[in-house]
Amino acid sequence: MSATRLNPTLPDQTAKPPAGGAAELHAFQTDDSRLRPIHEKVLAGQRLDAADALALYRSGDILAVGWMANLVRERMHGDKTFFNVNRHINPTNVCVAACRLCAFGRKKDSPGAYTMALEEAFETAASGYSEAVTEFHIVGGLHPDLPFQYFLDLCAGLKQRFPQVHLKAFTMVEVAYLSRRAKLSIRETLEQLKASGVDSLPGGGAEIFADRVRHIICDHKIDGDQWLETARLAHQIGLKSNATMLYGHVENDEDRVDHLLKLRALQDETGGFQTFIPLAFHPDNTPLQHLPKTTGMLDIKQIAVSRLVLDNFPHIKSYWQMMTAKIAQISLRFGADDMDGTVIEEKIYHDAGATTPQGMRREELERLIRAAGRQPVERDTLYRPVTRTETSVTVTV
Ligand code: SF4
Repeated sequence: MSATRLNPTLPDQTAKPPAGGAAELHAFQTDDSRLRPIHEKVLAGQRLDAADALALYRSGDILAVGWMANLVRERMHGDKTFFNVNRHINPTNVCVAACRLCAFGRKKDSPGAYTMALEEAFETAASGYSEAVTEFHIVGGLHPDLPFQYFLDLCAGLKQRFPQVHLKAFTMVEVAYLSRRAKLSIRETLEQLKASGVDSLPGGGAEIFADRVRHIICDHKIDGDQWLETARLAHQIGLKSNATMLYGHVENDEDRVDHLLKLRALQDETGGFQTFIPLAFHPDNTPLQHLPKTTGMLDIKQIAVSRLVLDNFPHIKSYWQMMTAKIAQISLRFGADDMDGTVIEEKIYHDAGATTPQGMRREELERLIRAAGRQPVERDTLYRPVTRTETSVTVTV
């Protein structure tokens, strides 16, 4: 394992933390001797290995794990905490896959199944537009009949109507499915989507890469290697993406570590991931609803371990829609530097029992971030600062 792993395109992770940051104010303390050598590595800016990651997951000393994650977070971003103003568009919930983790997908003739006509999707986009949205986040089911052209027309139509809005559209799973439906290679599919207006890809569908887990929770989806290969191809043609991990169901600590290390390896190769988003599993209304919900300890731990292991990911997001705004806010002191967005009209996690509101106003997000002692920074999808006045919105390139 190399001693130094710093990615020159990222903020300096060995830099002295800002005055008033964690390392300056609080000495590191732990009652878990397994964390001491990890602390030494973190201080020296060395890459953590699989054994370190497992020790972090298995430690009960959440404050010590969080202290280290916060140190790295403050080295990279100081107090800055990013959010954006976005709108979710889920064009269809019709899906052929029937993943056991899912409460969103429906068979074509099932009650509650819907598919938006293109005009309806454009109207949906427009209806949340008054708050100067900078991003449309577009994901949906794997529809058995919708032609590839529908998705190209959807993106081209949105671009034409909202040219300044970034289209973050289609998970790796959707891209792979569309390529099969269109009888194109994945690279050709990505190129056509890009040409129609897609600017980047979201991180969904990664779940847990381990086959054993995938067979239980999402047997009909592409496997972990195919997800990674699709992300690799997207990055190669210049599309940035995010990456996720769905945790808190039937996976174990080794599965989580394996997932993180595979993402880190691909990021070493492509540098195309922007943000890692741990997603807490919501079992309600899924075939796995007998499973308990994640605990606050696991949610916070997951954020902290992600920040420490994914040393080459610029950002770790605490997605308030799934973690609750309160846990997401606390996680800003445990490694997270992003709270996602205002998220107008989120459907997928609310079908699975999320009790959070379907959207949050910008002022409320800013209030939560400030109350955590952090500095809110509105960003666009590519993390460029957005400046607003009464009459204009400016992205600093
Ligand atoms: S998780 Fe995605 S692919 Fe699986 S059933 Fe739900 S909508 Fe379909």
